[in-house]
Amino acid sequence: MRLAGFEGGRIGMVDGDRLLDLGAGTGAGGGPATTAELVALGLDAATRWVAQRAADAPSRPLDDVLLEAPLSRPGKVVAAPINYADHQEEMRQHYDVSGLGVFLKAPTSVTGPGSDIVLPYVDRRFDHEGELAVVIGTTAHRLPVEAARGAVFGYTCLLDITMRGGEDRSTRKSFDTFTPLGPWIVTADELVDPGALELTCAVNGDVRQRASTADLIWGVDRLVAYVSSVMTLHPGDVIATGTPAGVGPIEAGDVVEVAISGIGTLQVGVSDVGATTCPTRGAEHGPVAPPVAR
Ligand code: MN
Repeated sequence: MRLAGFEGGRIGMVDGDRLLDLGAGTGAGGGPATTAELVALGLDAATRWVAQRAADAPSRPLDDVLLEAPLSRPGKVVAAPINYADHQEEMRQHYDVSGLGVFLKAPTSVTGPGSDIVLPYVDRRFDHEGELAVVIGTTAHRLPVEAARGAVFGYTCLLDITMRGGEDRSTRKSFDTFTPLGPWIVTADELVDPGALELTCAVNGDVRQRASTADLIWGVDRLVAYVSSVMTLHPGDVIATGTPAGVGPIEAGDVVEVAISGIGTLQVGVSDVGATTCPTRGAEHGPVAPPVAR
């Protein structure tokens, strides 16, 4: 099933070109009131609840609804820094997850479909990174690789928007709006194999990144297991699996789209409203950003 958030966290289920409104009259002891609370039930209980609700839920055309991030404030957003060989090459990095581990993005950086990435500075470079995101569905600590998939609730598309330069990753990637998420969560019972998905990231219709998740250096199972060995995972936590080659700058007025087969397309705009000059000087000492291919 495909679970979406809309109108302040109401729960929607996408059914073809219709959105079923599962949110009416829920919460306050009557069941989950938001997609985050639904995910917290775990996949089996969530599936039962949705089946019960969907039977007589009102629906409307999906095109008429402005969706929100399916999880507006994940408990944590964990991300793989280098997890495709071609991106490792373009960044001139010697290491992948094996050498770098993972990093955290602020949960407040999450934004939803149709919203704008807001660039904070006029004098720094900001890049798109299209990624497959894993949504966790159980509490998990030190998972064996073989058990990792059982902790997954589902998958969605994610943009890991990044300021290039030498500041810490948690600064460069945690500005508000720097983690677009959506358009919905496809549950793990529907998307059974996350290991062979086609991913593209386009700017203004021009495809800049194209990859298969078969090329992930650390695949979903190994990555989820590893993250759970570092920090206890909870339902609704999000793990960004890393980006392939083709990262490049975005600017105000751009439209950025990540599309993943079996999931859908996440589209956002780019704005620079309120941008100022940057108070930090990482541009002077950071790793060299890849050349701009236009
Ligand atoms: Mn990334």
